[in-house]
Amino acid sequence: MKVKIERKNKELVGNKNFMINIQENISLVPYTTFRIGGLAKFFCEVKNQEELKEALDFAEKNKVVVFLLGKGSNILFSDDGFAGLVIKLIKGACQISGTNMKCGAGMSLAKVVILAMKTSLTGLEWAAGIPGTIGGAVRGNAGAYGSEMKNIVQAVKVFDIKEKQVRIYNSVECEFEYRCSLFKKNKNLIILSVTLELQKGETEQISQKIQTIVKKRKDTLPKERSAGSFFKNPITNNKKLIKQFEEEKKVKIRDDKIPAAWLIEEAGLRGKKIGGAQVDKKHSNFIVNTGQATAQDVIILASVIKQKVREKLSIQLREEIQYVGF
Ligand SMILES: Cc1cc2nc3c(=O)[nH]c(=O)nc-3n(C[C@H](O)[C@H](O)[C@H](O)COP(=O)(O)OP(=O)(O)OC[C@H]3O[C@@H](n4cnc5c(N)ncnc54)[C@H](O)[C@@H]3O)c2cc1C
Repeated sequence: MKVKIERKNKELVGNKNFMINIQENISLVPYTTFRIGGLAKFFCEVKNQEELKEALDFAEKNKVVVFLLGKGSNILFSDDGFAGLVIKLIKGACQISGTNMKCGAGMSLAKVVILAMKTSLTGLEWAAGIPGTIGGAVRGNAGAYGSEMKNIVQAVKVFDIKEKQVRIYNSVECEFEYRCSLFKKNKNLIILSVTLELQKGETEQISQKIQTIVKKRKDTLPKERSAGSFFKNPITNNKKLIKQFEEEKKVKIRDDKIPAAWLIEEAGLRGKKIGGAQVDKKHSNFIVNTGQATAQDVIILASVIKQKVREKLSIQLREEIQYVGF
């Protein structure tokens, strides 16, 4: 076992037994789907609980804050980067037992979807095409086309940074809500693994469903760099607005939530551009990086959207994505 801390700063407290490679001043650009961000003061990748503990130990000894990164598909790093240790959770194995799948939190959702299909397990097809890790998806209760993680999570194993202990939560204890969970509310909880409860199905049918969903996503979502839906779909009791939406779109709203994309269009902001950040023309709740966008461009555009939607429609939009390092 060997430490590999690429030190520029001699004051750093290392430990000869560390196995992880802690790097300094690493660009965060390639680690997010937005392809935006400054430098991480420290950066490392961890693939299991032991390595995670080493990284946390390093942060504690060197008195720096930590940020846990999955695939970076739901965040915006600041142009100034992150003045602490970014710990990227990678890989992770999956054990399948009957209709249960126990997956390491760093596994990509895409891999879990394919593995479920190959094992003839149904219930996760809706997640095809969502570009995050399974840990990130559980933390944000990711969802699409009327389904969400909440419906299939049986148990979640976490490491509590504050209490320094491992705990297991059942589905009810996870306190899942619309794009939220206990793990989003309590930043001390790092998800280590997730057990999903799926159902027996037919591989061919599952494969067909996945292909249909992937095609639908290709047709309706932008190809450009983004962090997915920027704002949550707000809950409203404005009957006039709901009626207008339902008549125009010929669909009923679900759970009193009105699509943020439609509100942004109603505010006249489809295609609105600030610097390199733009409201996507295909899906108005996506802010895309057209090439050289800075985090500042994105933040200014998001503020304009919030202000205009509030002024024109009296609705307050709230971010689904997370700002880091601001
Ligand atoms: C093109 C595109 C389409 C998308 N479509 C959808 C969609 O249909 N539905 C949807 O819900 N989302 C969608 N997203 C958003 C995103 O992919 C999901 O929210 C995804 O689950 C985030 O996972 P991640 O690993 O990328 O998390 P990251 O972006 O890396 O992190 C997000 C947050 O989760 C925390 N986190 C990550 N891993 C863990 C862990 N193991 N334990 C504790 N906290 C953790 C991070 O600290 C951070 O606070 C889309 C994004 C893109 C770019």
